Amino acid sequence: MHKRNTMGLQQLSKVFALAQLFLLILTSSGDAQDPAAELLPIPDRLVVLTFDDSVKSHFTVVRPLLKKYKFGASFFITEGFTFKTNKKDYMSWQEIKQLHADGFEIGNHTRDHMSVTEGNLKKLKGQLEAIDRKCKAHGIPKPVSFAWPGNSLAKGALKILRQHGIVFARRGGAPEYPYKEGKGVAYEAHKDHPLLIPSAGDARPNWTLENFKLALQQAVKGKIAVLQFHGCPEGEHPWVHTPKAQFEKYMKYLHDNKYTVIALRNLKRYVDPQKAPKDPWKLIEERRAALKKKEAEK
Ligand SMILES: [Zn+2]
Repeated sequence: MHKRNTMGLQQLSKVFALAQLFLLILTSSGDAQDPAAELLPIPDRLVVLTFDDSVKSHFTVVRPLLKKYKFGASFFITEGFTFKTNKKDYMSWQEIKQLHADGFEIGNHTRDHMSVTEGNLKKLKGQLEAIDRKCKAHGIPKPVSFAWPGNSLAKGALKILRQHGIVFARRGGAPEYPYKEGKGVAYEAHKDHPLLIPSAGDARPNWTLENFKLALQQAVKGKIAVLQFHGCPEGEHPWVHTPKAQFEKYMKYLHDNKYTVIALRNLKRYVDPQKAPKDPWKLIEERRAALKKKEAEK
C-alpha cells in the first residue's frame, strides 16, 4: 500500500512537470508572435541608401559599386521627366528589373513625379498604381517603400499611402533644413512617423566628404542616417548631381568605416512600422524650434 502510494505521488509530480513544460511552450510561442520581440537593436553606423528618379547612372555607376561592397539600397522609380523617350539619361524597365534581381529594393516615386499636395490627393492612388503595374509586368513585387517627389509633403496623403500598402516613406531634409544645401536630420525610430522619414543628407554637386560625414555622424544612439542621392552623374537635374569620383569616395568611406548599409524596406528588422506618433508633425516642429534657437545663439 505504502509503496503504491509513493508511485502515485511520483507519477503525479511527473504530470505536473509535463503540465509546466506545456505551459512554458505555450507562453514562449506567444512571445514569438509578438513582432516587437523580434526587432534587432539599432546599431550605431546604420545607413539607408536611397536613389531617386530612375537615373541611368544608377545602373551604370551605382549598381556595380554597391555590388562590390555588398551594400543594400532602394531605387525610387518614376516615369516622370523624359523617362519614356530619353534613354541616355534614364534607365529602361529591363535595367530596373535587373536591379531587383540583384537584390536591391524597387520603391515607388509616382508615375509622373507628382509633387503631392492637399489639392491633388485624388490622383495619388492612380500615380502609385501605374508604377505597381509596371513592376508587376516585369516580375518586380509591389513596392512597399515610397519617396515623396520633390520632397513636397501633404498630411492627407499619409492615410492613402498606408491603405496602398506603403510601409516606409522617405522625405528630404526639409522642413527642418532648407532644401538648398541638402542638409538633414537622422531618423529617430518610433518617434518620426514611418511615412515621414527624414533624409540626413541629400547630396549636392558642391558636397565634399565633410558634408557627407555631417550626415553620417548622426547615426548614433538609436538614430539612423538615411541618405538621398539622384544621378551619379545626373542627367536632367544638375542641381542634384553627384560626380562619379565623389560618389566612389562616399561609398569607400562607408565601407572602410564599417557602416551597415541597407535598403529602406529593411528598416523593418529594427523598427515596428505600425508604431506611429499620434501627431506626426510634432517632432518636426520641435526640431525646427531647436534649430532656430541654435541659429539665434550663434
Ligand atoms: Zn524625385
